[in-house]
This record gives sequence, C-alpha cells and structure tokens, in this order.
Amino acid sequence: MELIRTVQAMQAKADARRQAGRCLALVPTMGALHEGHLALVDEARRQADHVTVSIFVNPTQFGPGEDFDTYPRLLERDLERLRERGGVDAVFAPSVEEMYPAGDNLTWVEVGRLGDHLCGAQRPDHFRGVTTIVARLFNACKPHLAVFGLKDGQQFLILRRMVRDLCFDVEMVGVPTVREADGLALSSRNAYLSPTHRKQAVVLSEAVEVARRRIAEGEQRGTLLVEAMREKLAQAPAARVQYAEVVETETLQPVEHLAPGQEVMAAVAVFFGEARLIDNARALVPAPPT
Ligand code: AMP
Repeated sequence: MELIRTVQAMQAKADARRQAGRCLALVPTMGALHEGHLALVDEARRQADHVTVSIFVNPTQFGPGEDFDTYPRLLERDLERLRERGGVDAVFAPSVEEMYPAGDNLTWVEVGRLGDHLCGAQRPDHFRGVTTIVARLFNACKPHLAVFGLKDGQQFLILRRMVRDLCFDVEMVGVPTVREADGLALSSRNAYLSPTHRKQAVVLSEAVEVARRRIAEGEQRGTLLVEAMREKLAQAPAARVQYAEVVETETLQPVEHLAPGQEVMAAVAVFFGEARLIDNARALVPAPPT
C-alpha cells in the first residue's frame, strides 16, 4: 500500500495504471476510518482492480463554528486499519496547501437548488465545498468509479448530479449504510456522544424506518410521514431536531403528496449536545392496492 501526498504524483500513478489497462476505484474519506468506510473499500475492491482511498479533512465543507479544528485526524491509525483490511493499493493524503494551492479558492462547483433543503439549508456552502473537493479528487486520482456511502444521502445525490451535468467519466457507486447493532449509523461523530446520548441516538434510525414502513404500507401524505418521524424523535429527551423531511430523490424538494413510482428519501438531522447526527432511508412509493 503506497502513501501518496501530491496531486502530481497521484496523477502520474493513475495514468500509468490506466495505460496498463487497470480499472481504478476511488473511495473519498475524511479519515477517522470505521467499518462504514471499510465497507466502501470492500465494494471498491469487488468492482475494480486498483483501489485508492483518499484521506483529506476538507476545510471548505465546514462552516464557521463547526468542528473542522477538532475533527479527528488519525492518519497512522487509518493506514494501519487499511493495511489490516487489505485490498487497498494506494492512500492519497494531501495537505490543505496541496489541494488549495491558491489559498483562497476561486473556482467552485455548485449544484443549484439541490442544496436548498435538508443539510444544505442548515449548512450554507457545505455542498459546494463537497462538490469542489470531489471534482479535484476525481482529477487528481482519475478513477473509473467512485464509491460513496448512502448514509450521506443528499451528498450522494448531489455528486451524482454533478457527474451527470459536467460529464465526468466516473461511475458513481452507492453503498448501504453500515449500522451498530441497535441501528445507529456508524459515524466519526458518534465519538462525541455521551453514554446517555449514545443510547438515545437510536431514534434517528427508528424515525427514518417508521417513515419507510409507512410508505410501504401506502401512506402518501408527506405531512403525516414527517409527523410520525418527529413523534419518534421526541422519544429522546436530549434530541434537538434540526430537520425531519421527506424529499424526492431527483430534485431533493420536499413532497406533500407522494406519487406511485416516485423515489423518495426520508431524512433527519438531530443534535445530541454538540454532536450533529444524520440518517435517511430511501423508498419507492408503491401503487395503491386495487
Ligand atoms: P466521511 O469520512 O465522513 O466524509 O465519509 C466518507 C465516506 O464514507 C462517505 O461516502 C460516507 O457516506 C461514507 N460513510 C460514512 N459513514 C458510513 C456508514 N455508516 N455506512 C456507509 N458509508 C458511510
């Protein structure tokens, strides 16, 4: 497993591998790797014959007052985890200066109104930071396919749209959320939870599961689905709900009346103390019973 620090070296390696006829996969991460990230690595390995994991805590996707300074940076431990897991050929871990050489970045990738709701409404500029860094990572690592977690549902849909709109020659692969035994989605930010909050945090997965089940049972009223999710979240006394919404997956706009055949995503964001957790479930709206 090779550690690569510069864009130039990464591009040269990628070019050589492409010329050798290899299929290249990229798994972008911010490090502090857990089983969720490793599931992406496993999927990349299944679909490609050369896997690069990027580790970069991207400053432009953090807002003022967010946890950029305190975000866990554990490169040595991450490298060890990847070596143990196997299947990774290269780790691309550039510095901030390497990824943003101009200091004050001037070129941004913005995906219009897909960022208006859910996390985008709460974290202005977050998604343009994500799309901009992923575009740079694609150009640095030149993958044929890129693997992302569906846990960050809005992020996946926005990146998929960016790839389509800008004709990136990269196949987007989404991997289902890896969860703890009680349903809590694995996240680097779970480390911020106190034992009490950790117990209560199970309501996120329960809330989106309630919505998914109700949709499967035929509920088509968006407001009632949101109400059901909020009721579930209210069972956690420490939860401060930032949003609970049902949106359409193409446009990411909230839906009031679900239509048969439509794909929707039920999504929640909840604070426990300083920790902000998200979860989502996707569902295909069934035809009404005849
Ligand atoms: P991050 O390091 O948090 O930026 O995440 C890097 C990638 O790992 C993203 O594509 C995330 O969606 C994915 N990821 C994070 N947590 C999980 C999880 N619990 N299950 C599956 N994928 C995940």
